[in-house]
This record gives sequence, C-alpha cells and structure tokens, in this order.
Amino acid sequence: MKKIPALFGSMVFNESVMKERLTKDAYRALCRTIKEGRALDPAVADVVASAMKDWAVEKGATHFTHWFQPMTGVTAEKHDAFLSPCGDGSGIMEFSGKELIKGEPDASSFPSGGLRATFEARGYTAWDPTSYAFIKDDTLCIPTAFCSYRGEILDKKTPLLRSMDVLSREAARVLRLFGKEVRRVTATVGPEQEYFLIDKADYAKRPDLILTGRTLFGAPAPKGQEMEDHYFGSIRPRVKAFMADLDEELWKLGIYAKTEHNEVAPSQHEMAPIFTTANLATDQNQLTMEVMKKVANRHGFVCLLHEKPFEGVNGSGKHNNWALSTDTGENLLDPGKTPMDNAQFLLFLTAVIRAVDEYQDLLRISVASAGNDHRLGGNEAPPAIVSVYVGDELSDVINALIRGIGHSDSAPGSMDIGVTALPPIPLDNSDRNRTSPFAFTGNKFEFRMPGSSFNIACPNIMLNCAVAESLGLYAGELEQARDFDTALSALIRRELSAHSRILFNGNGYGADWPEEAARRGLMNLHNTPEALEHFDDAKNVALFTSQGIYTPEEIHSRQEIAQEEYAKTILIEARTSLDILHKQIIPACMSYSTQVAQGAAVKSSIGISAEGEIALVRTITDKTSALMERTEALDKAVAAVPEDVKESARYCAETILPAMEAARTIADQLELLVDRAHWPFPTYRDLLFYV
Ligand code: ADP
Ligand code: MG
Repeated sequence: MKKIPALFGSMVFNESVMKERLTKDAYRALCRTIKEGRALDPAVADVVASAMKDWAVEKGATHFTHWFQPMTGVTAEKHDAFLSPCGDGSGIMEFSGKELIKGEPDASSFPSGGLRATFEARGYTAWDPTSYAFIKDDTLCIPTAFCSYRGEILDKKTPLLRSMDVLSREAARVLRLFGKEVRRVTATVGPEQEYFLIDKADYAKRPDLILTGRTLFGAPAPKGQEMEDHYFGSIRPRVKAFMADLDEELWKLGIYAKTEHNEVAPSQHEMAPIFTTANLATDQNQLTMEVMKKVANRHGFVCLLHEKPFEGVNGSGKHNNWALSTDTGENLLDPGKTPMDNAQFLLFLTAVIRAVDEYQDLLRISVASAGNDHRLGGNEAPPAIVSVYVGDELSDVINALIRGIGHSDSAPGSMDIGVTALPPIPLDNSDRNRTSPFAFTGNKFEFRMPGSSFNIACPNIMLNCAVAESLGLYAGELEQARDFDTALSALIRRELSAHSRILFNGNGYGADWPEEAARRGLMNLHNTPEALEHFDDAKNVALFTSQGIYTPEEIHSRQEIAQEEYAKTILIEARTSLDILHKQIIPACMSYSTQVAQGAAVKSSIGISAEGEIALVRTITDKTSALMERTEALDKAVAAVPEDVKESARYCAETILPAMEAARTIADQLELLVDRAHWPFPTYRDLLFYV
C-alpha cells in the first residue's frame, strides 16, 4: 500500500491540484466561483477543462461524465470519450469548457413526477464547482446539478445547494447581531454509514435479496444478536481485508474514512467519515455506497445497504451528524466559554429546537421509504416520532431558562443569558441516549432516522430550510430590538417554552412514549404513505416557496415520485414473494412431505410404526395448505392495486404488506420443519454466520 498522504485525494481534482495545474488568473477566478458562487467566465472554463483533462488522462482516464443525483436517489452518469476526430483519421483527446460546464443527458427516463413530459425530455446538467471533480473507473466525473430546460429542478443537489445558501444568509444575519461579520456559514455533515456484508455465493441463491435487497423469507437463526458479541467485537479477517481495501479506495477519492467497526447485528458494520460541507458530504456518501459495493465484490462479498435486510436483527441506518460552521472556523453549535458566546450558542440551539418542532413532519418525510419503514419504530432505530434529546445538563439549563431563573438579581452562580453571569455550559458527551431520533452530542446534532440506502441530500435540505427559517425570524425580531440583551433573553425564554414539547430525554423505545408524545401533540407518522401526505401541507409549501427552494409544482412532483416509488417497491417485493412461494417454497414443502410420507408408507407396510413421520407429514401438509391460501390472498391483493398514486401507496402499506407478512409467517414456520437439503435457499444461519 502506498503511504496514506500520497494516496489521499490522488484521484481528486482538488484545490492543490488546481493550484498546481492552473494559471494564476484561472485559479483565482475558479476560487471566486467556488467560494463566492460567482459565474465562471467561459474563457476560464476552457482553461480549467483543458487542465482537468490533462490531469485525468495522465491518471489513465479515457472518458468523462457529468455525475448527478436524479430523484431516484442513486447517482447517474453518461460517459463520453475525450477522443475527438482530427479529420485525418487520427484522434485527439479533447475536453472544452462548454463540455465541463453544461451537459445534456437524455433525461426522459428519470422520474420527474409530471414536471417534464417525455417529448421535452432534454434536461441539462450544470457543473457544481463547489464539489471537486474526481476519477472513478477511468472516467473523469464532474459533479453536476440537473434541471429541465424550463429550469425546473430534477435532482437532489440543486435544492441542497439552495438550502445551504439560505441557511448561510440567515445565520450570518444572526451573527451580525453578536458583532461578528462572516462571509459564509456552512452546514457541516458527517454521515455514519451502516451496512451488511454477506457471502456472494449465498446471495446468488436468494432471489429476494437480488430483486429487493432484503430477505422476504427466513426464520430466525438459532443465534441472533442477543449475546451482543458482535458490536465492536474483533473483526473477521476477511472483513478486515475488505475494510482496509475500502479505506484505501475512499482515501484516493478524497473521502476521509476514519473509523470502521462492527455493528450490533451479526455481519453488520459501520464506516464513519470525517465531516465536511453538507454538499460534499452528500456527494461523498453517494460515492461511498458505490465504492462499498464494488470493493465488497472484489472480496467475495455482497454489501447490503437495505435498511432491513433481515427480520429479527437490527437494520441499518445512516446517522447524519449536522452542525454549522463559519468561514472563520467557528462551530456555532459549540457551547462557548464566555457568557456572550453562550448566549449565541443558546440562540442557535433554540433555532434548531424550534425548527425540529415546527417541521417534525418534514424531517419524518425526509427519511420515509419502504425500506426504512421496517426500521423506524422497531426496537433498534429511533421511533417514527421526532423528538430532540439534549442530555440532562443542557436540559437543566433550558428548564432554568424557561422558569426564568437567572436574572442578574438572583443568587450567585445562577444563569443569565445576557452578558453577565451565564456559567459555562456543561458538555454532555458521555450519556448518549441511543434511542433518540435527534440528539445533541456535544457540538453537533445527530439525526439518526435516515436509512442506510438514503441519499442524505433530502434530510439536510429539510434541516437547513427549517433552521434557516428560525434564524431569519429571530434575526428579524432582534434587529428591531432597542435593548439587545433584554430582547435576546426574552426571545430565548419564549421560544424554548413554546417548543419544549419536542424535548425528550427518556427512552424512545418505551411503550409509554407514543402515548406521552400524543399528549404533547407530537406527530406520529407510522409509515411512508402517511408521512408523504403531509409534504404539501400549507406550512411546508410556504417554507419552501418563501425560501426559493421549490415551487409548489416541484413539491407536488417530489411527493408523487416518492409515493410512486414506495408503491413500486412494495409491489416488486410482493411479486417476488409470490414467485418464491409458487416456484420454490410450496414445491419444496410438497416434495419433502411426499418423501416423508413415502418413507412412512414403506415402514408401515413392513409393520414398523411411523407415527412421528405421519404427524410431521400432517403438520407440513396442513401448514402448506394454509400457506397456499395466503399465497392466493396475496395474489388477489396484488391484482387489485388502485390506479391513483396516493391511493396505491396507502393500499400497499395497509393491504399488500400485511398479506406478504401473513404468508411469510407460515413459510418461516415451514422452514423449521423441512429438511435442509430440500429448503430452496440459504437460511439466516448461512447468511449471517459465515466464516
Ligand atoms: P461519535 O463517537 O459521537 O459518533 P465522532 O466524533 O466519532 O462522534 O463523530 C461521529 C460523526 O460525526 C463523524 O462522522 C464526524 O465526522 C461527525 N462530526 C463531528 N463533528 C461534526 C460537526 N461539527 N459537523 C458535522 N459532523 C460532525
Ligand atoms: Mg453515531
């Protein structure tokens, strides 16, 4: 292995490469574009493109692609060769500024939710210079945004960039009130990625994993995660080799993969990168997922990114660590040392608390998917109810503020969020409440609801927009204040009391929490269709339109795409279940019970009692009949899906899923009765406990 520093970022056209390869003027112009969002002069674009191409060709690249994030959630690319004909039969390697800045992929088959009729299929991609170009599979990848010809946004990146701008503007406004001038405030994100690794040969024998990413059948293995021996346990050598390889590949792409460890479930692992800007973190997480799958393949594994590949053991999530950082290097969620810093910290903290309370539904929507529904509310992931954990010490501070303790005339050591006597805010780093969906962890918030396969753009768009709104409102109010300190104290107290219902330090898995949450008036959106129906609630439309993130049409299109995707996913699962039931499970049960029956008949014919066999045959036959009935019911349910998109999503959740579950229950019981040699595919034991 090459030394890490030489390896790190070696496939990225980053700032140091730019500095080395570009003329001084071009470098300066590009930096202005990156840091201040200024348009790039076409002449400069040509210089940058040519330097990028030379660099990429030296690294072995032959093609380039505009790399973008359509609403399917995965990344898309269309490769073009650098090669241009010369006229004399030879060719030269070419790449122009125009090709760098703008691409025109045929976009007709990407989902647009009715925004773009297929006859005007052309969309265009536009370079996002704030995310570095990189080389992957001998292709220069240029991170881009994706829009329709009429300017409607068709991807996840454009709204993310917009939300970051709005957030930066409002946060800078608030900081000005504290006497700080900053050019930019950036949302920083560190996504911790969970995944499963299973053996390729076993995977190949499981049509459910191949077609749906999760096991649709499977009785629990004799051992699950009850011993808790896998979490942070020693890593199997085969997995260790995979992790080392993964780190190396990620480092080459400039991704700071930092920690790799085992997770709670058998065969489950996690990779945590060092945080970066929300935009880059999103791109890098998309890349990480892709690289994980590729590297797994090299090691004879398949990497499962589905939220719930196995029933009965933990699913996989993606903890989205989020904070705010100024261009002067200050983390705005870091409690300060001086009272004034503390006042500023408390204002930002309050803004986040208000944002989460006001937009619980948007946060829930941002993590809604068929896969994640199996996880949220299970005994492993945060519940579907959104709440904020701040830890005991910070809670005490907040409660004291709400009660109004701590005006300058009260006892020494008490709190005052003005400039006088606020004590240092204790950091709660140790007592982490793992059951909270949104936890303050010292100097950042950890949003734990996103699913492992998610593009994190959406959760971060929601967070950025909601927090930006709080900050904008607070700035507006405080800018008018005659006495800043007094107004600030009053505002923080008022807002914390108004939104204290969202604060919850207790056990999110507890049976009493949903009741308590209902008493507090918190939302409990049980599944994806239920959550998605709130996307276009008036307050949400008002938020996005006022900030210029989405138009009402774009919101509806996104809502419809998500509903459709949900229904499609469940229907694919249902059809795969039916296929497996008809072609594999039911025939296996029949042939095994026939074989046992034949044996019993032979034994009986020579006068040997075969009571045990006969009983087994009877049980299997009865259960198989019941399974056949439930299979037929599922068949009928699938045939009766409503046309309407919203209705079909509801129907899938309320009718199809329970029908699948009903069939599975019996199939899993049969798995335990049928001989291993007859069972048509590897079991949970095979899948989760390989060596
Ligand atoms: P923990 O042990 O609590 O999970 P870590 O320090 O290991 O905490 O961080 C977990 C994740 O949070 C990492 O991906 C890390 O990069 C990220 N993180 C740390 N600080 C910030 C921050 N200021 N903004 C965003 N993410 C952060
Ligand atoms: Mg974490």
